[in-house]
Amino acid sequence: MAILETTDLKYSYPDGTLAIEGVSVSIEKGKKIAFVGPNGSGKSTLFLLLNGTLEPQEGKIIFHGKLLLYDTPSLRDIRKSIGIVFQNSDDQIFAPTVYQDVAFGPTNLEMPAEEVDAKVKETLEYVGLLEIKDKPPHHLSGGQKKRVAIAGVVVMEPEVIILDEPLSNLDPVGADEILDLLNELNQFEKTIVISTHDVDFAYSWADYIYLLVNRKIIGGGTPDEVFCDPDMLKDAGLRMPTILEIYYEI
Ligand code: ADP
Ligand code: MG
Repeated sequence: MAILETTDLKYSYPDGTLAIEGVSVSIEKGKKIAFVGPNGSGKSTLFLLLNGTLEPQEGKIIFHGKLLLYDTPSLRDIRKSIGIVFQNSDDQIFAPTVYQDVAFGPTNLEMPAEEVDAKVKETLEYVGLLEIKDKPPHHLSGGQKKRVAIAGVVVMEPEVIILDEPLSNLDPVGADEILDLLNELNQFEKTIVISTHDVDFAYSWADYIYLLVNRKIIGGGTPDEVFCDPDMLKDAGLRMPTILEIYYEI
């Protein structure tokens, strides 16, 4: 069942840059989906469209079979249901302590204070940050900051979690920890959507892959369907995942 669909999305920035054109995708509930494409192909823009942060000039977004409208209550609902973790954690983390940062969203929902406290602590424990809850986030490692940002989204109990280039700029240990966390979240029925230009990561991780190149979707399928098509990869300016190169002796 599709939880989130788009039809023919088009988006140009106010300066006239066309960033997304004719994008139709269908995201299945509970799956791990990767959008793969070179820099500048429109991945981050598409993600901001998916949760209503940007409004397309053309096309539609359908969440749970319902057309997304752009009035304030509808936008509040969709942003709670579809959380985004930005590529750069510093764009997302503002509060003086880890705890306060994760508490920000639930506090804004006017939840009773004890409920907020319980939820925040539970989430911090889940992402492995409870012990450093009183530290200032800006002194943490890249992987820890990423977990703070993820906690700030997870605490809102979204159905879909979108992560823009979640492993970029992380060391191998930090990246592995984030990967484990993503896979764990997915086991709890969460739909996980990521972007990456790392074909090896996408191939090994995703259930379904969309290739987004030059503003448009040029292909979609299981990792094997997408990455075993040398012509499509060439068009995308992407190489074959290493494990397939070995298999095909390229
Ligand atoms: P990706 O995430 O795949 O690297 P983006 O969505 O960031 O791609 O960018 C798609 C296109 O939109 C690029 O040409 C980029 O330069 C342009 N773009 C991104 N953000 C803005 C902005 N705020 N204003 C104008 N153009 C932008
Ligand atoms: Mg981007």
